[in-house]
Amino acid sequence: MTDTQDYMIKDDWQAFEFTGMLVAGPVSNRVMSRSGQPRARYATATLYQTLGGKYVLERWNMSDVYHDESRSCDPVGKSSRLWIPCRVADLSPDAIPCNRAATRQVCRPPDRRDRYATVLCERDRLQVMELPTWQKVVQQMATARHRDGFTSSVVTDLMEELLAEAERNGAVFDGPRPVTKIA
Ligand SMILES: [Zn+2]
Repeated sequence: MTDTQDYMIKDDWQAFEFTGMLVAGPVSNRVMSRSGQPRARYATATLYQTLGGKYVLERWNMSDVYHDESRSCDPVGKSSRLWIPCRVADLSPDAIPCNRAATRQVCRPPDRRDRYATVLCERDRLQVMELPTWQKVVQQMATARHRDGFTSSVVTDLMEELLAEAERNGAVFDGPRPVTKIA
């Protein structure tokens, strides 16, 4: 646990401000534990506790994938707002063309040498959750809501790592284990 300070978490749309301390993180699942290879899409997570005692869970869904400008791999145009135009020259060294990422639909963005070409990068997405207790943190970390309406629970490696680090840092997770009631 660190000293109390003022935090601001922000993306292109909004900002979250609070006074508190860092409990654990950021942890990332970018590097695959088995192969040591980087993932094209990955997540980072950080846990804070506010002065008032609440927890703040900051999660970023990150992507290094970029696409061609024609959106040829996104025929429905569904994900258009998640894509931002950028120049090939401005791509990070880690950026991965769509056809080299493991995606279902594939386009072929211009070559790296075509420096002035425009491509579409996937926007990193921020999720911030304010949670009253550590039990809610665990439940939130474990819960996935699927597109077809069902919900499943499994604490992912990423979140397991975050919780383990929090315990090592001296976070006190006492009281009963969380119970999820299923109706
Ligand atoms: Zn693509």
